Amino acid sequence: MNTEEFRENAHELVDWMADYLGNLEKYPVKPEVKPGDIKARLPVAAPVEGEDFNTIFSDFKDIIIPGMTHWQHPGFFAYFPANNSEPSILAEMLTASMGAQCMLWLTSPAAEELEERMMEWLRDILGLPKEFVGVIQDSSSSATLVALLSAREKRSDFAINRRGFTPVDRYRVYTSTQGHSSVDKDVKIAGIGIENLVKIGVNNNFAMRTELLEEAIIQDIAAGFTPLAVVSTFGTTSSTAIDPSGEIGRICEKYGCWHHVDASYAGTALMLPEIRELMPEIGRCDSFVVNPHKWMFTNFDCSAYFIRDKQSLINTFSILPEYLKTPEDKIVNNYRDWGVPLGRRFRALKLWFVIRTYGISGLQQKIRDHIAFGQWVKQQIVDTPGLELMAPTLFNLVCFRFHPQDIEDEAELGRLNETVLNKLNHSGKVFLTQTKLNEKYVIRFVAGQTHTTFETVKKGWAFLVKEAYAYLNL
Ligand SMILES: *Cc1c(COP(=O)(O)O)cnc(C)c1O
Repeated sequence: MNTEEFRENAHELVDWMADYLGNLEKYPVKPEVKPGDIKARLPVAAPVEGEDFNTIFSDFKDIIIPGMTHWQHPGFFAYFPANNSEPSILAEMLTASMGAQCMLWLTSPAAEELEERMMEWLRDILGLPKEFVGVIQDSSSSATLVALLSAREKRSDFAINRRGFTPVDRYRVYTSTQGHSSVDKDVKIAGIGIENLVKIGVNNNFAMRTELLEEAIIQDIAAGFTPLAVVSTFGTTSSTAIDPSGEIGRICEKYGCWHHVDASYAGTALMLPEIRELMPEIGRCDSFVVNPHKWMFTNFDCSAYFIRDKQSLINTFSILPEYLKTPEDKIVNNYRDWGVPLGRRFRALKLWFVIRTYGISGLQQKIRDHIAFGQWVKQQIVDTPGLELMAPTLFNLVCFRFHPQDIEDEAELGRLNETVLNKLNHSGKVFLTQTKLNEKYVIRFVAGQTHTTFETVKKGWAFLVKEAYAYLNL
């Protein structure tokens, strides 16, 4: 494909992209495909001769699009959103065009300095402490791994990097029973061992009980363990519960633990002063992660990782083979030393486009609206017989279940809700997912896409209630 052909094809593609974004409602939000359906339509071997763009693009429309779940669809209320936005998409096009690899300052000075500035903007927008420095990671799972590895190395005086684990390195990591599964994964990868991840019980609001945390730490010390880190959550995945960061921070300081805050989803809401007021001590931690690729209109991947002690991070990850040495090493940030991968995409550009396009007030307005949508759905549940609210609605995630008056058996309620959810998800109109809270099957409803409006939420909710009630004969 030469430059002129590229220009022509790109124009055609942009037209398709704009049509797609403008007509998402015409697609089924979740495709009706069975495992293997799409692969069966793809040739078993790669083409020997090159094919022309029109053929490839038409296969994209015929084979790929019908097999996609449309995350930006107005009927998508599942998981947490992974939203995009027009400015973010445009920035990604530029990033792809430059194809730059941003591992060192020298390999893309503007990318490195923009990333520095964007992390400062984001830190200040979210009201995080000024002494925090940030770096963009690919995902929150990686950011939490980086936090645990930094904690491990700082605590062992960087000995484990050198000599590996010895029998004296008996570390414990703590998170609540509602902590994200990435904490389990990261504890395994960091060599700490899943048996040394202690899950702390929660209160009625699904927030960590700090007196249980302190008890566990004291017991572990008595048993010869070293309490290494606590991963607290600001907005748990099941119900967006908030662990008490200030109190956990104090306990961590007392016992020399690293405190990492996982604010992957709800952290974006800290840009609202009224939310920050609820959590005045959110910055009482050693590291903090929030995903602009979830609720901040920025394409996946973009995970903002903030850390107080930059030196512990760099000492943990720094490598300096001859072929990577540059004259500026002492005076610039080389982000290859701030995480696991060497090579890095230019991810700050989309954040710059997004923040400038909306402005702080535009971003705040969207988040405020989304939270109001969540509160409206919550009120519908409270006001409608046959529906039961299953957790506090702090943001825009609403946890509920269908609960017909005459049914009290938990197992039957679970089966019934699972059946209703499957039926709704086969409609192509809405897509929701489930969780378990206190062993009970719970349906999650999250309205947080970039272009979600009160109208689309009301429409989705009305459809859901009508379908479910017809099925349940309510
Ligand atoms: C989504 C989520 C994660 C995982 O995020 P990735 O970026 O996909 O790794 C971790 N913790 C919480 C609380 C989340 O909501």
